[in-house]
Amino acid sequence: MSNNGNKIELPSSIVIRDLAQKIEKSPIDLIKKLMSNGVMATINQAVDFDTAAIVVAEYGFEAVPEIVEEVVVETGEVPLWRRMIAGEDETRLANRPPVITILGHVDHGKTSLLDVIRQTDVAAGEAGGITQHIGAYQVEHKGRTITFLDTPGHAAFTQMRARGAQGADIVILVVAADDGVMPQTREAIAHAKAARVPIVVALNKIDKANANPERVKQQLAEQELVPDEWGGNTMVIPVSAKQKQGIEDLLEAIVLVADNTSIKANPGGKVIGTVIEAELDKTRGTVATLLIQNGTLESGDIVVAGTAHGRLRALSDFRGKPVKKAGPSTPVAVMGLSDVPSAGDLFEVVDSEKEARLMVAERLALAKSQAQTRKKVSLEDLFSSVQAGEAKELNLIVKADVQGSLDPIVSELNKLGEGEIGIKVLYAETGNIGDNDVMLASASSAIIIGFNVQVDVTARRLAEKEGVDIRLYEIIYRMTEDIEKALSGMLEPEIKEQIIGRATVLAVFTASKFGKVAGCRVTEGELRRNAKVRLYRGNDIVYEGDMGSLRHEKEDVREVRQGYECGVGFKSFNDIQVGDQVVCYTVEKS
Ligand code: GDP
Repeated sequence: MSNNGNKIELPSSIVIRDLAQKIEKSPIDLIKKLMSNGVMATINQAVDFDTAAIVVAEYGFEAVPEIVEEVVVETGEVPLWRRMIAGEDETRLANRPPVITILGHVDHGKTSLLDVIRQTDVAAGEAGGITQHIGAYQVEHKGRTITFLDTPGHAAFTQMRARGAQGADIVILVVAADDGVMPQTREAIAHAKAARVPIVVALNKIDKANANPERVKQQLAEQELVPDEWGGNTMVIPVSAKQKQGIEDLLEAIVLVADNTSIKANPGGKVIGTVIEAELDKTRGTVATLLIQNGTLESGDIVVAGTAHGRLRALSDFRGKPVKKAGPSTPVAVMGLSDVPSAGDLFEVVDSEKEARLMVAERLALAKSQAQTRKKVSLEDLFSSVQAGEAKELNLIVKADVQGSLDPIVSELNKLGEGEIGIKVLYAETGNIGDNDVMLASASSAIIIGFNVQVDVTARRLAEKEGVDIRLYEIIYRMTEDIEKALSGMLEPEIKEQIIGRATVLAVFTASKFGKVAGCRVTEGELRRNAKVRLYRGNDIVYEGDMGSLRHEKEDVREVRQGYECGVGFKSFNDIQVGDQVVCYTVEKS
């Protein structure tokens, strides 16, 4: 932000206190000015640009919209693929085709667009079309090759990042012109920005009578994707997947962005890349699609991919045509791996089978020890990891029950982040905490803050597996207090819960002594009489607290293991239903 003469740059919304500071006036004075303009606001409330512009005008300032710098590869951190070619001789680097992934809200036309782009590929047409799907394909545009990942959606994209792979170099964000920016659009933007991958917007379905491109551009601008025709950095290309319109323009835009980002590799360098997909074929063994990111992969190479290894044979391109070798950004289907690697695993070529086996053994051992370690990033460890140089800032994902609480939370957090350790809110949205939030947190080493929301059952499990710290709050003050303490290294160890068992309610009984009792089967771990329980109905928690009673075959027992049936009573709680899930946990100080 800079003040140039009487001009003052203002964001799309600003908290009164910050606005006052910016123009060096008293906030009280400002509030009075607002009131005289018919706007009632407190010091902690935000006003939009237009309102702020009117007020600052009264002090002789001319407000101009702050140009929000897009988080593209030039800014800040180095994108993953650059790290993958670290150590390569700069003079040997050559441009490689950009790798594109398509993200966007459901039904906005991701699949249709991928199909249309695939069909417009003349080369594929000549070869009789693409008969097999290997998870990626390439098209030519004016002599330039572009690689497309074939699995749309940010789940795949983020899964790759969570494994340390660069999902793509450029994201095409599909937004339907009749529907506009929707929750998954915002989620996709957050994912792309967290990955520091540039975004090209495909404004799809412009053929529809109710298409409203201008409204969508406005919505995009609100998401800090300011269209280039409005002076911003985001290319917004009108297309219709249905009528095959605008596809060439979209490809042109990709080439332009690729040129700006200079995506390079050394074709003669160390061979590394990412597993796009892999499966076990009954007759052929493991068939995997590998995307080469550096070097040139050849038939006969010995490869380690995740914890799979083997000598590659039968390389074929996305058309199913056998090839002897494949260079950077080329997807190839290969056979010869011992095991089925996971999508997103990194692969590399090694010198001998012996070396490959050794690496795999090391990785397996490491995975085992990592499974025992705790959270990847936790609020308690923040300060020490910053001091150790492992973290530079605190990445947060914020979920709240209503928009009304989201805005003040985010502005409070932004304020806290003005100190030595920065805070970056990657994504802020209303709604419960779901799997996608956890994957984004895992991929971006972020902590999830929930405000008056619940955690979906599957998301809780995923968070445990991925080592993601989820913090739930009901009072903003408590949250800011925790974060303030974490930023200064003063946060006390948190009371942590450890899930020890799960059970399903199969029947509900009435026992005179205890009221209603849940007849359960333990499906995982064990239930312990002196532990705590949570009763889930779908994703909702209907009871949380102490266990009232635990019986096995009419006997009071201290624990019941997996596979056994038991009766569980909840303290002063009777609203039990068949199908409810019981989660048993202990709490401990970490
Ligand atoms: P995805 O969920 O994002 O992959 O969306 P799909 O590609 O499956 O498309 C969702 C629906 O929108 C389908 O019924 C498509 O036929 C339709 N659709 C996709 N693109 C267009 C378009 O450009 N114009 C119109 N009118 N419909 C489209």
